Amino acid sequence: MRAISLHPDVLVATSEVWQTTCTAVRSGGEAFVIDSPVYPDELELLPTLLQQAQFPPSGLLVTHGDWDHLLGRLAFPGAALGCAETTAARLTAEPGAAQRELRAFDDEHYVERKAPLSLGQVQALPVPGHLEVGESELELHPTEGHTADGMAVWIPWAKVLVCGDYLSPVEIPMISETGSRDAYLATLRRLEPLVAQAAHVVPGHGAVMEGARAAAVLREDVAYLEALPDATLPLARRGPAQQGVHRENIGRV
Ligand SMILES: [Zn+2]
Repeated sequence: MRAISLHPDVLVATSEVWQTTCTAVRSGGEAFVIDSPVYPDELELLPTLLQQAQFPPSGLLVTHGDWDHLLGRLAFPGAALGCAETTAARLTAEPGAAQRELRAFDDEHYVERKAPLSLGQVQALPVPGHLEVGESELELHPTEGHTADGMAVWIPWAKVLVCGDYLSPVEIPMISETGSRDAYLATLRRLEPLVAQAAHVVPGHGAVMEGARAAAVLREDVAYLEALPDATLPLARRGPAQQGVHRENIGRV
């Protein structure tokens, strides 16, 4: 797991699998951890890493309900999990789904964990909306299209956008079973003014990008989605895994 500092108040750790990102943000002695790494040793290291960097987590946030972003409670079993109302509704509607998918991943890769995943008390946050952290406020923006649920977190004083599974330098837009192309395009248009102001954009998967680079990915993603089903893949994202995602996307438009 790699960890980098984007701002005195923003730290990003990246998992070895799928380059899944986990972002910590702090203000006035409080901190939130947004999304999670995946492997047990990474989750085990997270509390020490945040303690040493002086990011004392007061709560967990998730950008959306896909299981690979939901593992924060394995690192902080007592912490409350906050998410968009759409994500809370999804987690309620499909109880145990995240645990089943986590187990399937672990079985396939022979990963052993000390404890099962429990999401605890899930707090539904109004999105769009604001969330207080210490002396500052996070902005929450709705993001649907990849899945039917989700939110992006804008950290105004650091000019950092944590957007979940959008704007990835390694993954093309992925329209999952509950997602939709139109909703995905609407989300990209909603994120565009934030990306234009952003010093950094933290995608759900892949390396942190400067604002200008993320704006270029956004333009590529809009062009790709608008051209579906006949779209060509962006030059830097056309390996076999992305071609597989592309075939699934074609089936969904
Ligand atoms: Zn994901």
